[in-house]
Amino acid sequence: MSIGVNTYVVFLHRWFFGGFLCIIDNMERNELIRLINDNTRIIWDNLCELYPRLLKYNPPVIILNNRLWRNAGLSHQESNIIELGYKFFIHSTDYYYEMINIILPHEIIHQADYNLFGLSEAKCGHGKKWREIMINYGLEDNKYHSMEIKR
Ligand SMILES: [Zn+2]
Repeated sequence: MSIGVNTYVVFLHRWFFGGFLCIIDNMERNELIRLINDNTRIIWDNLCELYPRLLKYNPPVIILNNRLWRNAGLSHQESNIIELGYKFFIHSTDYYYEMINIILPHEIIHQADYNLFGLSEAKCGHGKKWREIMINYGLEDNKYHSMEIKR
């Protein structure tokens, strides 16, 4: 009989702490989304100064994706949406800064490239124009990151 009671207590304990941790995790996630959105606006404003034709476009909408582990970010240029890998942000401080300072502008510049130069550039992703915007913005035109995330 006591085994049953213990199991129940363990279950309650897991439910309580599991739920509690989930709430904390959600708070951090919301905070992170706010921070990413603030940075997106700043990056977009800077790009608009470099390329005033971008002023007629809204900055891309950023979504956190829990499943990304190889790609740190994905740009869906036709829908103005960027997905960023949540696991990279929470992996370590180094990865967090790389996501904010390199991957986020990298993906936003894919969108700017598409808005400015259209589909022909979108097809080759890291084309001549994308590299040009990266360099004008002040970043290296690296296609790939070296962060490693377990699946
Ligand atoms: Zn890219």
